[in-house]
Amino acid sequence: MHELAIAESVVSAVLERTDRHVSVVRLRVGQLSGVVPDALTFCFEIATVGTPLEGAVLEIEEQRGRAQCRSCGQEFSLDDAILLCPCGSADVELLAGRDLSVTSVEVA
Ligand SMILES: [Zn+2]
Repeated sequence: MHELAIAESVVSAVLERTDRHVSVVRLRVGQLSGVVPDALTFCFEIATVGTPLEGAVLEIEEQRGRAQCRSCGQEFSLDDAILLCPCGSADVELLAGRDLSVTSVEVA
């Protein structure tokens, strides 16, 4: 399961930086990353059992996809992974929406 691997890497990334008890982990998840927030929350609970993150709340902020057209220069939002500018060009650079990052952590 995709989300379990992601949850485990989030947990180990946090544990590398702190060994204190963590109460909240905030993530920013791009809408084009393919990650399902509900599934990730579920897997996070499993991945934290027996670690200092056990019982921590996972807060997920979804980030919309954003791209810029190389033909007309227009910047636009993306709701799916179809990279097509309103002008009709597919020569489009993805600016945001595919990444997943930990934005902050609260320690108890
Ligand atoms: Zn365009």
